[in-house]
Amino acid sequence: MKKVILFITGIIIISNAIVFIVNELSHNHDDSVSLTDYEQQLVSLTQNCEPLECRIIDDFNRLDKHEYSENIKAIAESIRPILAYPNGPKIGIAILNIVFENGSFSCDDKLYFLDKISTLKYKDNDLFGMIDPILSYIKIANESGDDFKIASGELSLALAISYFKEYEFSNNIIEEIIYSDKSNDWYRLKNQARLSFAENKLAMNKPQDALNMLEMVKPHQASYTEEDWRDYYIYTLGLKAEAYTHLGQLEQASQCLSVAKEELEKDQLRLLLGKDTLVSVAEFQLSFRKKDFLYIEEKKEELLSIVDQDNQARYAKIVYNTLFDYYHQTNNISELYDINHRYYALIDKRQNNYYQLLISNKLKQSENDHLSDDHEKTMFFLKISFSVLMLISILLFFTIVRIKYLNIENFTDPLTNCLNRRKFNIDYEKSAKIEHDFLILDIDNFKAINDNYGHDFGDEILVKVASALIRILGREYKCYRIGGEEFVVIFDTSNKTRSIDIAENIRRAIEALVWDNGISITISGGLSRFSPDKNTYKAADELLYNAKRSTKNLIVNDLELS
Ligand code: GH3
Ligand code: MG
Ligand code: MG
Repeated sequence: MKKVILFITGIIIISNAIVFIVNELSHNHDDSVSLTDYEQQLVSLTQNCEPLECRIIDDFNRLDKHEYSENIKAIAESIRPILAYPNGPKIGIAILNIVFENGSFSCDDKLYFLDKISTLKYKDNDLFGMIDPILSYIKIANESGDDFKIASGELSLALAISYFKEYEFSNNIIEEIIYSDKSNDWYRLKNQARLSFAENKLAMNKPQDALNMLEMVKPHQASYTEEDWRDYYIYTLGLKAEAYTHLGQLEQASQCLSVAKEELEKDQLRLLLGKDTLVSVAEFQLSFRKKDFLYIEEKKEELLSIVDQDNQARYAKIVYNTLFDYYHQTNNISELYDINHRYYALIDKRQNNYYQLLISNKLKQSENDHLSDDHEKTMFFLKISFSVLMLISILLFFTIVRIKYLNIENFTDPLTNCLNRRKFNIDYEKSAKIEHDFLILDIDNFKAINDNYGHDFGDEILVKVASALIRILGREYKCYRIGGEEFVVIFDTSNKTRSIDIAENIRRAIEALVWDNGISITISGGLSRFSPDKNTYKAADELLYNAKRSTKNLIVNDLELS
């Protein structure tokens, strides 16, 4: 909670400071011959450009304003070589906007520009900034009355929306495009829509839905050249591999990936952004499932540096989750902590960037409106700062609600409602340094129950055992489900916990449970007390092992020894 308050205060101070600075700057501009914002931006970008960037800016500056109209495509293409440079997208955005402001263009040219600008903003990680050109695109498309152009704009909007994790909303828009009756002319657009739809479904953890949609991405002779189709094909294969991996169909996933990699080698066009990242991420995920840990070690740094960018949220989740599982499975606790920290730092940073971008985009809009009257200007800035603050408060509110919701979702085991392994790793890191008792519980002969009565019945038992645990632990302590039928409790002993009594209560309560079919179960446990030089988790696990070798239905502890 403290963090949230600090964060809110920080945001308010920062936004006020920005409003103040912009206000000051705008007063200063009054006396000078004004360059437009984008012209100014280009000048400042010239100050520390790399050689190739400088050459492209020079070439552009040499053009006269009335030469813009006949050179639109050439200007846009000239930016391509610097797209991977740190300031490349920014230079592109400035140049395209200067051209846009200084010419009269046909509807198609405008749409071409707006599409390029939003793509550049994506490359520049400016996700909020993308929305403005996309909305202008839809507006112009609407004026032209051309359904295809409107649908293209809407598809871009749906994509942008999915970057903000509103997958359901995004797919609602996409479905309208996919199921519209304009079959032949819209073939490519629909395929593109299907890919985005499937990607959203994967992000929503619905791999089967994704696969069903991907089955419908088909080539259409008249609509694609060979190279052109390859572009879609690779993307489709990458997404299929992801879906198959999710579904545990590893053989199919491997097949998709090996074809995708072959095709990727032949690929020249690279029209769809991020195909290679998609394929690498899918392969990373699959390698873990196939226990190819060498590949994980080899690839992890490269992939982390790619997915740490703001516009790679979906891939980031996959790569980080894979690493969580990998370190967990290989028992590499210190790496697990590191990666945990790195992930949460990334989420914090991303959240911060969103707000900064939102503010700067709002302010850019306001700067674009030229106001002559000073009073009017002051009022205008007051209004802007007020609305920015309002907007931030509203967004903040939703973000807090969402963070809470996500945390609950991320940290809860869906079957039993206990906390999950991930939350355990975080909490244990904190507890391990201070006094505590550690209890690990494992249901006895559970495999036999599964074998004799079926997995569903096994699940029913897990649910009932967990609710008994939750009931006995009350509000004071939490239960974690850290494996199939393994639960743990961390007792804070600074207030005289009677952990032995509680553990015994749990054992007796489980013993007393009876199901309709007459069967009953037992549970065993290991309970270990903190000492500075030992790992209570390991110690408790060994005690549990002793209980299992003995009579079972038993809690073995080392508290009396200490
Ligand atoms: P022991 O008394 O030594 O603990 O024997 P056990 O059979 O309980 O031990 P073991 O750890 O070999 O078996 C655990 C079983 O738990 C294996 C697996 O089939 C089952 N299991 C793991 N996760 C789940 C789950 O989510 N649901 C169900 N129904 N079973 C699960
Ligand atoms: Mg077990
Ligand atoms: Mg067991």
